[in-house]
Amino acid sequence: AKTKSRGSFQAFRPEMQLKSEWTKRMRTDLLAAIGTDQFFLVYQPIMKASDQSIVGVEALLRWHHPDRGIISPTEFIPVAEETGLIIPIGTWALQRACQTARSWPSNIKISVNASIKQFENNNLAGVVRDALTNAGLPPERLKLEVTESVLMTENSVSINTLKEIQNTGVSIILDDFGTGYSSLSYINTFSFDFIKIDKSFISRICRPGDREPIFEAIMGMAQAIRIPVTVEGVETVHQLEYIRGLGCEFVQGYLLAKPMSETDISRVLIYNGGI
Ligand code: C2E
Ligand code: CA
Ligand code: CA
Ligand code: CA
Repeated sequence: AKTKSRGSFQAFRPEMQLKSEWTKRMRTDLLAAIGTDQFFLVYQPIMKASDQSIVGVEALLRWHHPDRGIISPTEFIPVAEETGLIIPIGTWALQRACQTARSWPSNIKISVNASIKQFENNNLAGVVRDALTNAGLPPERLKLEVTESVLMTENSVSINTLKEIQNTGVSIILDDFGTGYSSLSYINTFSFDFIKIDKSFISRICRPGDREPIFEAIMGMAQAIRIPVTVEGVETVHQLEYIRGLGCEFVQGYLLAKPMSETDISRVLIYNGGI
């Protein structure tokens, strides 16, 4: 490991210094952002693969930085996790998403992402319950998206928390399935309600006739254990047809809808429901 880190020092470039300074600054800026309304959620529809009707919506975090504009969660969530700030940010996202979903048609579910950090030393089950109660949203309307990292922790606290939340009526989704180290062995440690296959798999389907054996194996396994599958990152008609042919239940991706503002999603849902 030592040789390796020396090697990376040799490759040190000025932009890496800039990057680490921004990471440092991000830590202080994230703290300031919490009290000053800089976070917001965007909403991406999830459709039935068969008829493309909207069945749910995923809430995705955005950070409107005062100087740097909109920052992607892939950039700030790792820093928020490392500093523990993901706990208040995650609580805020959960509350906000539940409040927003309250005004949607009652057949539409809201999916919220939860970080592994929110399961550690934190009463997540209580936080979820309070968010639902305060918003007046029935637990059946909420889905919590977690990655397999939640099952990999040393103690059983996370699994117990997942069970506690699931017992209240909230669905638990295994997100980014297929990207972890031991997906297949973890699938049996908790009875997930849904599986979401990571977008890296479908992105390899480019031309008509293309097939992705690993993807098909994952689909087949999910079907064997009877857990409904969502495929995310569907960008082309061709990919949609491919996953439909494999019997995938739900689909999410730029082809059908991109993440959008609170105002826009309300309009789309009203149109979808024909109210
Ligand atoms: P994720 O949970 O896997 O979310 C799916 C990501 O794929 C989102 O990126 C979404 O905008 C993007 N996406 C959707 N359709 C397509 C498509 O057709 N093509 C491509 N290339 N991408 C598509 P986003 O919004 O940048 O979020 C990135 C990640 O940040 C999320 O990945 C999730 O891990 C994390 N994240 C977002 N919001 C939250 C949150 O509230 N809490 C936590 N803990 N993590 C969050
Ligand atoms: Ca997700
Ligand atoms: Ca995902
Ligand atoms: Ca992801």
